Amino acid sequence: MKLATFNEGRVGVVEGDHLTELEVGADPHSGVSPMRHLIGSATFRPGQPRRGRSYPLSTVTLGAPVPDPSKVMAAPVNYRSHQEEMNEAVQVSGLGLFLKAPSSVTGPGGQVVLPYSDRRFDFEAELAAVIGSTARHVPVSDALDHVFGYTALLDVTMRGGEDRSTRKSFETFTPMGPWLVTADEFGSPDDADLACFVNGDRRQAANTRDLIWSVAELVSYASSITTLHPGDVIATGTPAGVGAIRDGDTVDVELGGVGGLLRITVTDEGAVPSRTTGKDRGPVPPLDPARA
Ligand code: MN
Repeated sequence: MKLATFNEGRVGVVEGDHLTELEVGADPHSGVSPMRHLIGSATFRPGQPRRGRSYPLSTVTLGAPVPDPSKVMAAPVNYRSHQEEMNEAVQVSGLGLFLKAPSSVTGPGGQVVLPYSDRRFDFEAELAAVIGSTARHVPVSDALDHVFGYTALLDVTMRGGEDRSTRKSFETFTPMGPWLVTADEFGSPDDADLACFVNGDRRQAANTRDLIWSVAELVSYASSITTLHPGDVIATGTPAGVGAIRDGDTVDVELGGVGGLLRITVTDEGAVPSRTTGKDRGPVPPLDPARA
């Protein structure tokens, strides 16, 4: 089942080139999005919520599938190919996870807004797991039982020596979508093709079988740090091929099993000089082949 958030927070199921609204019965005053309500509903079964009106997909505005996760946890350096290109001495097993601000989430078709005029910003295409049920100290063997579904995610990143939580939490720096695919339909998260295109040129191509820590290991580990709640997002890391994005760029992420592109555009409108001094510190990214 492909589940989308559309038209300011409504929930629908995507079938081919149509989207049918689901009446999920969320309380509009709860402060929780209808999608999070649906994911957290113990009674949810695929096909069960009453169906409402149907729309051609091209006529709706999609949002991030989960617009309001309680947290976004992410794996640094979780493909060896990316570890090598970044000249990183350590990988996920030495770094643990980091947090991206939930307010950095944005939807497909949106704009990534680069905040600074004097810093490099990179695309990082990733598989993201969306948590389906509360998880705390879950063993690896049970971890995937707590995953509701999967979606494509861009972990937009400022390069440099500042803390990861700063470099990756700017507003609009976590595009997700175009929808999520429930775990039953997605298949194994350990064998999903992932690709990223900048202005139509393929810049990243990988398969999640090359993850250093698998999705199950990441979910289990995350649940050993803190309680995972329905709708929480775990970004699993990016493969080799990262590069800079600039004003006017279009970035597409294609994740096998999702059946649609996560597309965003980039703007630097309003960018100002950075207020911190990390520009020449931190992991050294590869030269940008398209712009060198
Ligand atoms: Mn990343």
